[in-house]
Amino acid sequence: MIHFIGAGPGGADLITVRGARLLGEADCIIYAGSLVNPDLLQYKKDGCVVCDSASMTLEEVLAVMEAEEHAGHTTVRLHTGDPCLYGAIREQMDRLDKLGLPYDDTPGVSSFCGAAAALRAEYTLPEVSQSVIITRMAGRTGVPEGEALRRMASHGCTMVLFLSTGLLREAQEELLAGGVYTADTPAAIVYKATWPDERVFRCTVGTLAQTARENNITKTALITIGGFLSAPYERSKLYDPTFAHGCREARP
Ligand code: SAH
Repeated sequence: MIHFIGAGPGGADLITVRGARLLGEADCIIYAGSLVNPDLLQYKKDGCVVCDSASMTLEEVLAVMEAEEHAGHTTVRLHTGDPCLYGAIREQMDRLDKLGLPYDDTPGVSSFCGAAAALRAEYTLPEVSQSVIITRMAGRTGVPEGEALRRMASHGCTMVLFLSTGLLREAQEELLAGGVYTADTPAAIVYKATWPDERVFRCTVGTLAQTARENNITKTALITIGGFLSAPYERSKLYDPTFAHGCREARP
């Protein structure tokens, strides 16, 4: 059996209970060494084989999985955050389907949740934003035209940019070209959210590139943008005493 597991955003104790149990049972762990905290390997059992996929191709990863499976072993494929975001798991799953090899997927805490925790923030504030756009700047991996950053920015809602720390000058221009965010719209760079060396830089859309440059942040960071970082907001209806819902009467 092959288990895809979300490792969580960094902190080794932020993997799920199920993920940690499956790690402890694995005969082979293939982990994304460029982003997954190696402290997670503390959960492995003696004799477990460990491969760092950072230097491997898809074909090499699959060859390891196939060999382990034919030996009757259990393999864990450990991805950073949750594998469903920028995890390149679909191509692995499709190949495993072709090979007839069984797998399952255990979710993890994505880094965008880790970043909100680092910021002590809520992305969805009443009357500020009720939507979160998760996207990236086009890099060597393109972005479909309809999702160009300026088009996404035209909504003005909470936005989280993955994989874009090296392109912040261009990102700034695109964010402003959307016509809703201004140079003063609050933004934040969260570096290595939930890792021991986590750092948070609060800035504005107009100072994103400068802030990253001044602090030597070039990778492993998320960019968050929007009024959720500062704007006044309405309190929630859910906990408002005058508001009735399925679990509570309105109180006078
Ligand atoms: N599947 C992962 C994302 C993988 S893409 C998830 O759910 O989080 C890799 C990108 O994620 C990095 O370039 C960076 O933008 C972001 N990232 C991953 N871990 C991070 C962390 N702890 N802090 C900030 N950004 C992180």
